[in-house]
Amino acid sequence: MIYPWFEPVWQQIARHWQQQPHAWLLYGHPGIGKREFAEYLAQALLCESPRTNHQPCSECTSCHLYSQHSHPDFLLVTPEEADSEGGERKQALIKVETIRNVLDFAHLSAHRGGKRVALIYPAESMNLQAANALLKILEEPPAGMVFILVSHQKDRLLPTIKSRCRQVALTMPARAQALAYVQQQHGDNAADLLAFHGGAPLFADNDSHNQLRNELIPLLIKPRLIALLDYAAAFDKQKLALCTFLDWLAKWLLDMSLAQQHIHAMYYPAWQNALNEITGQINPLSLFALIDRVNALAPYGKHTLNVKMQLEDLLIDYLNVWQHKNTKP
Ligand SMILES: [Zn+2]
Repeated sequence: MIYPWFEPVWQQIARHWQQQPHAWLLYGHPGIGKREFAEYLAQALLCESPRTNHQPCSECTSCHLYSQHSHPDFLLVTPEEADSEGGERKQALIKVETIRNVLDFAHLSAHRGGKRVALIYPAESMNLQAANALLKILEEPPAGMVFILVSHQKDRLLPTIKSRCRQVALTMPARAQALAYVQQQHGDNAADLLAFHGGAPLFADNDSHNQLRNELIPLLIKPRLIALLDYAAAFDKQKLALCTFLDWLAKWLLDMSLAQQHIHAMYYPAWQNALNEITGQINPLSLFALIDRVNALAPYGKHTLNVKMQLEDLLIDYLNVWQHKNTKP
């Protein structure tokens, strides 16, 4: 299935069905349903009795095999699962050995006589070696082979790869449509959740994340050294990645800077009053410096560095943003 907000994109693809590229690049913001769209496209390419508008029939042998994840002419390529030890801290990559399997697959003849499809998700998780290996085959694709690359961050792909693909932008749904969907999935809290996720309607409702985030915001409103350090320890115990914390903090800092300019909060609208109240106590220059620092750390957010130490350091810096520091425990 595809999400309703992507219907117009599907219509567009269906209208030009006869002029298909051998490689697609579907890109857009995380959390909007790109992968489902890519899988739908793959199923449609393999379907043996497509419906109107080239939609997959869900009934033919090919569609059955596809829905059971056992279609011999379909290959899904995702980063190797992070081992449980590292939890979400381990960086997941698509390595060159994996892409070599794709090359072997590409040169086989189709089991069912139709196309062969490889879906690479997300494409930016290929390391440089893997990307170069893929590039070779994109330059001379075997007949009947279709690649579907999906990317959250198109800028991180090699330009030479991008130029070999037909690029299709999958854009964020309109707010009303996204809100209706989130309401249906998550109930009352929908507007706040949608705001926190920057308008992207698909996200896992992760209890441990939600709880830790809900504990963080009151601390950020009334920061106290000991409480902040305790928080860093509690966060570290959950083995969550630094990037998770950076995401929460970066969004909060952005809302703080918006409040200083009398602009409504983007990510934490439920905390608007508190944001307005604290704005007089914030040193704007220190705030911008901290925002820069958080942004600079972002590329390291998945590495297994000392997460607790990083958090402590950031939270102490946060305390320094306050002109009237309150360091009493
Ligand atoms: Zn079918």
